[in-house]
Amino acid sequence: MPEAKPTVRLLTYGCQMNEYDSELVASLLAENGYVLVDDHHPADIILVNTCAVRESANTRVYAQLSQWTHQKKEQPGLIVGVLGCIPQNLKDGLLEKFPGVDFVCGPDSYRRLPELIAHARAGGHEAAVDLSEYETYSDIAPLRVPGVNAWLAVMRGCDNFCSFCVVPFSRGRERSRTPESVLEETRQLTREGYKQVTLLGQNVNSYRSGDTDFAALIGQVAAVDGIERVRFTSPHPKDFPEHLIEVIAANPRICSHIHFPLQAGADRILKLMNRGYTLDDFLRLVEMMRAKIPNLALTTDIICGFPTETDADYQETVRAVSTVEFDSAFIFKYSEREGTPAAKRYPDDVPDDIKSERVTRLVALQREISATKNRAMIGQTVRVLIEGFSKKSPAVLRARTDSNKIVLFPTAPGLAVGDFCDVRISEVTPNTLLGQVV
Ligand code: SAH
Ligand code: SF4
Repeated sequence: MPEAKPTVRLLTYGCQMNEYDSELVASLLAENGYVLVDDHHPADIILVNTCAVRESANTRVYAQLSQWTHQKKEQPGLIVGVLGCIPQNLKDGLLEKFPGVDFVCGPDSYRRLPELIAHARAGGHEAAVDLSEYETYSDIAPLRVPGVNAWLAVMRGCDNFCSFCVVPFSRGRERSRTPESVLEETRQLTREGYKQVTLLGQNVNSYRSGDTDFAALIGQVAAVDGIERVRFTSPHPKDFPEHLIEVIAANPRICSHIHFPLQAGADRILKLMNRGYTLDDFLRLVEMMRAKIPNLALTTDIICGFPTETDADYQETVRAVSTVEFDSAFIFKYSEREGTPAAKRYPDDVPDDIKSERVTRLVALQREISATKNRAMIGQTVRVLIEGFSKKSPAVLRARTDSNKIVLFPTAPGLAVGDFCDVRISEVTPNTLLGQVV
């Protein structure tokens, strides 16, 4: 009898880039004779792909690691590996902190996984955390989650060094794939039936390969036959030239949604954050985008309670959010990250209860803005791409507008996941539109 293949359970935390990286890892492991299993099946190896962007992400992973350390007592031989941004930052510190962890592997070392697992099975403990200036995993075909959308990383790393952010340390220097490899992968996606591709990068619009910049690349991707929708995330406001806005405006397949992280409204704080733009620069870009791209949806990220943020600074963020009227926003409490410029230079001096209060007030304001914007859509008919079913009922379809809003509506004969259809909006919440097929 041939020996059974070892089973691997792979958990993913964090951003879309981590989801994509897990698809690369799954592909690498499958190629090397491992079988990926879900949490209902026993696994010989548990891998967790981690995020280090805020302390809350670390805390969640640590709780899991403690649990698996216990599980190892009942399942001797179980291998636990930690991947991604946490080990890249803590290096062998993680092996010392959690004796149940057999190995750690940073985002540029995934090719070493088969070797790390073999080493761990022989009793070794290793930290593979070298960062690379070249690794883009271009030659690896990700083992994607079947569905409507495919993630496609066009660049990796970040050179921006926003003072609060750990990403330039955990993911290393910026590097871009060639347009040829991105286009070939896009064509492959259409053969596999994906309708939408989302181009990914920590700083996606600073993509550059030879003469091809991000505007040229996204235009070429959108021209691939069979791709119906193209999205991208996350762009940085300082790398958003007018010709990129024009490419988005001119190309019906590029969705009219831009995630546009503001972070703070006060210029003094933006400067301390090393964001490279003022509120005025940001507002001018928003104005240009809205003038050129009809029905544009804008979403953002905001941090409350950055070091030295006064109530007056915070009020500038509130004013900016009221002025722009984003469609939605992710609003975070500042979380000090060891080793970042902000952690080195500025004491984390805004008390936690004030940070929380600022977040709560801003979330409430944004909910109002989102609800008002959504209410204005009642009675309109929107074109949506069906992505799946509502979590609550298999009789309700879940779809998305071009502007990235979620629409729920009762199934109708002949409709399937991956289809486009027109839905008339009859009810809304701050996060969702409800309607019926017309
Ligand atoms: N590269 C992307 C995403 C970075 S992480 C970008 O520049 O937009 C996603 C978001 O997490 C950031 O936009 C920021 O709002 C938030 N974030 C990053 N570091 C943080 C920290 N130390 N504390 C709180 N929020 C943080
Ligand atoms: Fe972090 Fe700034 Fe790079 Fe985004 S652009 S990943 S916030 S350093």
